[in-house]
Amino acid sequence: MQVWKFGGTSVGKPERMKSIRNLVTADAGKKVVVLSALSGSTNALLSIGESLMRANKEEATLKIDELLAHYEQFVHALFASEEGLKSGKTIVANEFNFIRSLANLNHYNQKHDKQMVAQGEIMSTQLFTAYMKEQGESVALISALDFMRIDVDGEPELAVIAEKLKEVVDKQADKQILVTQGFICRNPRNEIDNLKRGGSDYSASLIGGALEAEEIQIWTDIDGMHNNDPRVVKRTFPVRELLFEEAAELAYFGAKILHPSTITPAKLKGVPVRLKNTMDPEAPGTVITSKISNQVEIKAIAAKDNITAIYIHSMRMLNAYGFLRRVFDVFEKHKTPVDMITTSEVSVAMTIDNSERLDAISADLKQFAELEEHDRNQSIICIVGNFLADKAGIAIRILEAVKHIPIRMISYGASEHNISLLVDSKHKNEALEALNENLFDFDQP
Ligand code: ASP
Ligand code: MG
Repeated sequence: MQVWKFGGTSVGKPERMKSIRNLVTADAGKKVVVLSALSGSTNALLSIGESLMRANKEEATLKIDELLAHYEQFVHALFASEEGLKSGKTIVANEFNFIRSLANLNHYNQKHDKQMVAQGEIMSTQLFTAYMKEQGESVALISALDFMRIDVDGEPELAVIAEKLKEVVDKQADKQILVTQGFICRNPRNEIDNLKRGGSDYSASLIGGALEAEEIQIWTDIDGMHNNDPRVVKRTFPVRELLFEEAAELAYFGAKILHPSTITPAKLKGVPVRLKNTMDPEAPGTVITSKISNQVEIKAIAAKDNITAIYIHSMRMLNAYGFLRRVFDVFEKHKTPVDMITTSEVSVAMTIDNSERLDAISADLKQFAELEEHDRNQSIICIVGNFLADKAGIAIRILEAVKHIPIRMISYGASEHNISLLVDSKHKNEALEALNENLFDFDQP
């Protein structure tokens, strides 16, 4: 069994949806196919919900009409037969009736909004399944709402998911392709909920892990994970192989291709994740596994913006044990994750990317420490690869490449897979370009 996930742009046009049928049937193996909503739908549904939260029903109705027109056009172009078209029209009519019933509620709330935004995946999967049936394929739709569960903290319940999913899959043993929704799930109150924006990758990985699948394939429209941000630097190349740890660092530190949580469930069960390109299905893409053949030292670079650096000095100065614990307690109290950290004997510098609680954090830290002025608008540049601890010369290569750029923090040694630099965001592009040109061999990627 394999799990293949297609994102919003891969299903966003009728012709793209048709080509997904070709892709998933060209290869003979059994598959779970996880779909996102048609591109733009999640945003459109959230925007409808936003009007309803403001009790502006008129505005919501206009937005609903506009979205409906889009789906009507879509089904006309998707189906080939009268019967197929009828099934598509029925799906759209039913789901839009539901959307309108939500819009007619007197007190539209968060719970309704979760139902609203789930409609994107609920429609894309029904339409794709109906189209597959029209084309005579062996297919069944399985509802993620029957197996995908999160706990009170919004974390997936792996054991429950595995148990329920196996039941659901066993019932469809005679089908080749099982289609299901990415992103959506149920919470402990049994209400419809979701895995947060971009969560379909996460769904695919949870499903692949639960089924201990042969492989999880994430299909997008770029040729795998690139060695650097193609929107910033002049030239990049796809990285063929990554370790789970490397991919996790890259996804977390800004490589947009993968949702940062995706790697965890796959890694837990050792299921390889392959990133593939729907526009170029023959291209090898990137495979993420626990063992790789290619011992390239520096694999890729990613950057994360909107970082704030906080500089903290201990007032008791030397030998103050317990100081770091007190510092971390403050961040824990304010539920703010810390990304980078460096320390000297008397000072600590750390970075956060969510500065919502910064004032409260500063006030608490000032109870026992001195603070310097925070540096806002910083970027973390994360260099990922295989940096074996006993190998010399890597730091110098990196620092040499950016010797003309002021570096605020350097984090080296915590992981054999990540070296991070903090720079002012105004220097980010220049730093990425300099690292790119100096650290990679473009002749033999
Ligand atoms: N449709 C959801 C979103 O746009 C989930 C996903 O596509 O991954 O965020
Ligand atoms: Mg995505």
